[in-house]
Amino acid sequence: MKCIKCSKTAKIGLKHLGGSLCPSCFAEVIEKRVRKSLRDNKWLKPADRIIYIDDGTLQSKAGIHLINAIFKNQPFNICFKKGLIKSAARLSKGYDKVLIPWNMDDEVVQFLDALFNAKKVPKKRHIKFLINISDEEIAFFAKIKKIKGTQKAKTRLGKMLDDLEKRYPGSKFGLLRSI
Ligand SMILES: [Zn+2]
Repeated sequence: MKCIKCSKTAKIGLKHLGGSLCPSCFAEVIEKRVRKSLRDNKWLKPADRIIYIDDGTLQSKAGIHLINAIFKNQPFNICFKKGLIKSAARLSKGYDKVLIPWNMDDEVVQFLDALFNAKKVPKKRHIKFLINISDEEIAFFAKIKKIKGTQKAKTRLGKMLDDLEKRYPGSKFGLLRSI
């Protein structure tokens, strides 16, 4: 199996990527996708006081790795603070922008949970830094970059979503788009 971008040996075959990728091209795709969401949403300005909430999960550590890669040699000042996402409001006093390690799975699960259980989707003013990246992609990315962290707890809905993704690759992206 060859990488569709550079024709080196491919190791990652997630169907929604449009073909198999080698580890370095895969990491590049992920980084580009995060860069694009930052740019398209105009989330951050250099003058902002920015804080990133690190909840210790692999996902959060992958987010830190991406921040360091993306903002290297850029005039942004980003602080990292350890804590839970649900405490973000308290932890971020005095900051203008709050980045949280929140990904596609978190977003879709929250949406489905609200839908099935007739709840309201909570409105968060925080920036969902990994919104375009799925759990599977985080896992591959962390492996490639040798990132360590705790596993995020999966709810029953989260597991259901993984099963759906296995059977119908691209489901998570489709659901995110419809949200
Ligand atoms: Zn490649």
